[in-house]
Amino acid sequence: MQHVIVITGASRGIGAATARLAARQGYRVCINYHADDQAAERVLAEVRELGAEAIAVRADVSVEDEVIQLFHRVDSELGRVTALVNNAGTIGHSSRLEDMSEFRLLKLMKTNVVGPMLCAKHALQRMSTRHGGLGGSIVNVSSVAARLGSPNEYVDYAASKGALDTFTVGLAKEVAGEGVRVNAVRPGYIHTDFHALSGDPDRVSTLESSIPMGRGGQAEEVAEAIIWLLSDKASYSTGSFIDLGGGR
Ligand code: NAP
Repeated sequence: MQHVIVITGASRGIGAATARLAARQGYRVCINYHADDQAAERVLAEVRELGAEAIAVRADVSVEDEVIQLFHRVDSELGRVTALVNNAGTIGHSSRLEDMSEFRLLKLMKTNVVGPMLCAKHALQRMSTRHGGLGGSIVNVSSVAARLGSPNEYVDYAASKGALDTFTVGLAKEVAGEGVRVNAVRPGYIHTDFHALSGDPDRVSTLESSIPMGRGGQAEEVAEAIIWLLSDKASYSTGSFIDLGGGR
């Protein structure tokens, strides 16, 4: 069976590294992204260069109509999805709760929590044996922030990843008897453009001395764990977490 992977937020960072590794492993690859057409086209070209059948699909994961269109494109152009990586995520500027607007909180929760739920819903309608599917695997990209709480910086982001962890545990049990495994990775400080969103593009370099391993992580190191959890090598893992925090 040809493996078909949907990776949300794959136009850069951890998602793009996962797309490149999936291509090397023979997956057909759907690169989802939100806004940056040119970045997505660059990743698409790289993935095709590696020999994979691939498409890039612009869709906001927090809007169900767009998620429906995303999965229809995958059905018709790549085939039935067998793997989903809920990687798309966002963060606000570092601040205390008193200074966070309702707009910020709702956008963050919609993107980081509702988005993965919507994508999992539409993937399950294709993967679960309950719906005539042949099984599959889902990996949610959480954060070590889920267990650290991120006080004085972004408790909202940490709480959104805490919700994603609880969703991972519950959904894993819900579909364990239907051929679908659900796991998560929890990265720590990873060198990507994500930190520019929090107002500090150099955040990882600045904080490296506080990381037990003395360095930030690379997106490729997270991608390795994601692809392993998706693979048959992880066939007895569900509802589990791999932390990639360099000891944090
Ligand atoms: P990144 O470089 O900022 O990439 C984020 C990706 O998500 C981009 O492709 C972006 O697309 C996409 N995206 C954002 N909102 C979206 C939406 N509503 N719908 C669809 N796509 C959307 O981030 P990253 O560092 O690779 O992070 C990926 C995941 O890892 C996130 O869930 C993040 O919370 C988690 N994480 C990261 C770190 C870290 O240190 N980097 C640590 C822990 C956890 P556009 O560019 O087109 O907007």
